[in-house]
Amino acid sequence: MKLNPFSYFSKDIAIDLGTATTLVYVRGQGIVIFEPSVVAINKKTGQILAIGEEAKKMVGRTPAHIIATRPLVKGVISDFEVTEQMLKYFIEKVHRNRFFFSPRPRVIIGIPCGVTEVEKKAVQDAAKSAGSREVYIIEQPMAAAIGNRLPVQEAGGNFIVDIGGGTTQVAVISLGGLVLTKSLRIAGDRLNEDIINFAQEEYKLLIGERTAEEIKIGIGSAYPLKEKKEMPMRGRNMVTGLPEEIMVSDTDIRRALEKSVGQILKTIKTTVEETPPELLADIMAKGIFLSGGGSLLRGLDILITKETKIPAKVIDDPLTAVARGAGLVLENLDDLREVLADTEELEPPQ
Ligand code: ADP
Ligand code: MG
Repeated sequence: MKLNPFSYFSKDIAIDLGTATTLVYVRGQGIVIFEPSVVAINKKTGQILAIGEEAKKMVGRTPAHIIATRPLVKGVISDFEVTEQMLKYFIEKVHRNRFFFSPRPRVIIGIPCGVTEVEKKAVQDAAKSAGSREVYIIEQPMAAAIGNRLPVQEAGGNFIVDIGGGTTQVAVISLGGLVLTKSLRIAGDRLNEDIINFAQEEYKLLIGERTAEEIKIGIGSAYPLKEKKEMPMRGRNMVTGLPEEIMVSDTDIRRALEKSVGQILKTIKTTVEETPPELLADIMAKGIFLSGGGSLLRGLDILITKETKIPAKVIDDPLTAVARGAGLVLENLDDLREVLADTEELEPPQ
């Protein structure tokens, strides 16, 4: 690796711009930021009040005109200005203590695959205006595969499924590029909504999003479990208006999640069907790799294995794979440049 005498000060960074969580990796240090991709806004004035962890804490504890938005809802950049502010906040947080003479950093940003050229450019511009020298874009499934040390630059096929909060991304990678990608706007958030709807329809119980997520993580599954699981679900009875607690089982929740899980599965199966046969042979041997928080749903790996006849496995530390992968690219930019997304040439640095 070539060493730039200033690299110690320059703090090049890699960012996983997730729909639920943003992670920041600093060269030579590893992951230093792991915060919710949330921005709190005063709806009356449009002013941004807080970002990240602090913004998440404000939700539900502040007056109604203060709302929390997730700028990357459903995996697309739904609100560019807010995304830009969030990106700036995270970049500046890392650079707060840098020396005044240190060069501006290089930044690699992992974004969902399938975003438009305009959105890619928008993310690049945001990072530039936050003080970056060079900005590169990498698609999240590519970064996840590299984070899991898959041989993405070889001629064989690699199959990766990244299930986050807003999107499920399915990708086949070979020779340093994405051969096939599919993106579905059904992932962890939708599973929470399914549980909220299920509680209303089945028990006339109004529950919050946090409760739904706790139930999902506590007893949710995609495939029948060996041991039964139960958990109290607390909310407000819609008829009486009073608080109520109902015991729900893994079977109930599996039923609630069935439809969305089925759609995720269908997208994976369609991708398998469209994979060129010569790559499929490698994939059958290597397996399907699952990353992202949503892949932690119990039994999802078993369900995918049964339905595709290809062994599926959740990778180690699935929540940090994209950030670790983008970080590896940052550390080895000369060797790994080809895995970056194609973007229009940026203006040369001054
Ligand atoms: P993103 O990349 O979109 O920011 P993440 O990879 O951080 O998303 O995943 C966030 C999603 O993972 C959330 O919907 C969260 O509820 C879900 N999740 C986290 N842990 C678990 C778990 N143990 N079981 C099921 N879902 C989980
Ligand atoms: Mg992600």
